[in-house]
Amino acid sequence: MAGDAPKYKSAFIICDGLGDRPVASLGGKTPTEAANTPTLDKLAAGGAVGLMYPIAPGIVAGSDTAHLALLGFDPFECYTGRGPFECAGIDMDVRKGDVCFRVNFSTVYDDDSHQKPAVDPETGALKAVVQDRRAGRIDEGTDKIAEALDGLEIDGVKILFKESVAHRAGLILRGEGLGQNVSDVDPHAVGEAIWVAKGEDPASEKTAAVLNKFVAKSYEILKDLDVNKQRVAEGKLPANVALPRGVGTAPDLGDFNERNGVKSACIVETGLIRGVGMYLNMDIIDVEGATGGLDSDLQAMARAVVKALEDHDFVMCNMKGPDIAGHDGDADAKAKVIEIIDGAVKTLIDEGPEDLLLALTGDHSTPIDKGDHGGDAVPFLLHGPGVKPDAVTSFGEGPCGTGSLGTFIGRNVVPILTNLMNVQPKFGA
Ligand code: ZN
Ligand code: ZN
Repeated sequence: MAGDAPKYKSAFIICDGLGDRPVASLGGKTPTEAANTPTLDKLAAGGAVGLMYPIAPGIVAGSDTAHLALLGFDPFECYTGRGPFECAGIDMDVRKGDVCFRVNFSTVYDDDSHQKPAVDPETGALKAVVQDRRAGRIDEGTDKIAEALDGLEIDGVKILFKESVAHRAGLILRGEGLGQNVSDVDPHAVGEAIWVAKGEDPASEKTAAVLNKFVAKSYEILKDLDVNKQRVAEGKLPANVALPRGVGTAPDLGDFNERNGVKSACIVETGLIRGVGMYLNMDIIDVEGATGGLDSDLQAMARAVVKALEDHDFVMCNMKGPDIAGHDGDADAKAKVIEIIDGAVKTLIDEGPEDLLLALTGDHSTPIDKGDHGGDAVPFLLHGPGVKPDAVTSFGEGPCGTGSLGTFIGRNVVPILTNLMNVQPKFGA
């Protein structure tokens, strides 16, 4: 719902996996507390802080579900798997009702050492044994492979196919009456036979039938493709089959801009979150040097946010580093990347608009001691026009727990911002 033009612009910085639990090697501090963060501390002193449960208290959040929540949606209602966001993230045209998958280019044995690939006449499924799930970590020629599969039609269902990075790709099945409750075809293990997809209901049975035929067709087409003949000649494994997984039906989420009365941009490092932004019709801005790793150029990202704020009201930026370090279980690396983020935020404050409304938080915790995502509350910082400073003078899980914003959930963030931007329509009379 568009109202008046926003009075202030806002930057929403999401530090992926920022939250943590007390770490023994850091003397019981969290990485955010242990890190030297003069900018974030200054902003905390001049702003208001709190704790946020990205989805709900204790819920262990994925990055995609958490970002949906942070952008104002209820992931329990709208999330149907990562497929649609993965596909959108590689610029595929995802539409409501599409059944989307992530795909691995893989290798099935194509000799007498194992079952020779053959199509089951009853199901149309491929009977073959997986030799390598990543086709020898293929990183060249996948555009040619994708081209050979894109645009097929099976039982009246349109196949859209596009390569992603390395052995990954996206698959969309577009047609009437397709369900998404289908079982996997990828056995997720070498030496195992490809599974036959099955549907749990009539619509999903239709999807399963198309999926099984697609996998068989992919083998039929890819085994003789020039790219693969060349790979074999070079002693490499051919990408002779496409194995879909991670199914999801594209949900109807509408347009973030229309919903919130803003013009928004999305600056991120990973395809999955890029896909969330794409899907919500945010302007996607790719930054050179944003690698999604610990070596990422976060200063370049900060400058991109500054630039985007020139012609956008709402800029979301995800910096991936803390999550990487959290998965690695490396407390020092996590504290270090938080310090680098602190420097990037300084650039944003110094060079961005004077009346900038800034929200900074994490999309979930990635506790060092767990090495994976947690359901903990994460620190939240709010600074800018209209924000009354509280008594807290540093940023971190402990200090934020005593802040004036209290404890809230991720879906509250966009309303908190659009309220302060003076753009949110009144609820009621
Ligand atoms: Zn995340
Ligand atoms: Zn993660």
